Amino acid sequence: MGNRALINIDYTYDFVADKGALTCGKPGQDIEEVLVGITNEFIQNGEYTVFAIDLHDEGDRFHPETNLFPLHNIRGTMGRDLYGKLKEIYQANKNQKNVHYIDKTRYSAFAGTDLDIRLRERHISEVHLVGVCTDICILHTAIDAYNLGYNIYVHENAVASFNEQGHEWALGHFKGSLGATILS
Ligand code: ZN
Repeated sequence: MGNRALINIDYTYDFVADKGALTCGKPGQDIEEVLVGITNEFIQNGEYTVFAIDLHDEGDRFHPETNLFPLHNIRGTMGRDLYGKLKEIYQANKNQKNVHYIDKTRYSAFAGTDLDIRLRERHISEVHLVGVCTDICILHTAIDAYNLGYNIYVHENAVASFNEQGHEWALGHFKGSLGATILS
């Protein structure tokens, strides 16, 4: 078994809270306890724990999401804060050597970030995915992880989407096309 890393994706106010700008709503809120438990486990084990969080700037006319979605996760706004207990866990552990925060600007945590080189220098071969949305940012991160040769683990009870059909489809795709292990 290789080294593991947890990639904690987009579990923020805008994506999870009832009043979030692009919220998954209840399905997103329902995974909080499991997602926080897994995050705690990785942090306490000393395993690499990455928070890969969407970042947008208001009025960015060059960003492809501008024409697709309402404004969300805007730099410096509370919409971009981690949601619920995850925020406390991050605040309490952010200075640990194994905890790292990455601003991402695309769906995939690998797109335009140094995530791949950070994982490789730590000889990490297993990426564990939690967060939202299953069929958007988790999916695109999983596809990049597949193309880069990582073994993928998706925690079924710690991913969610506003689109129940998309969620189910993505879980099938992770397993059937990306060779991922689905953990429940
Ligand atoms: Zn976005």
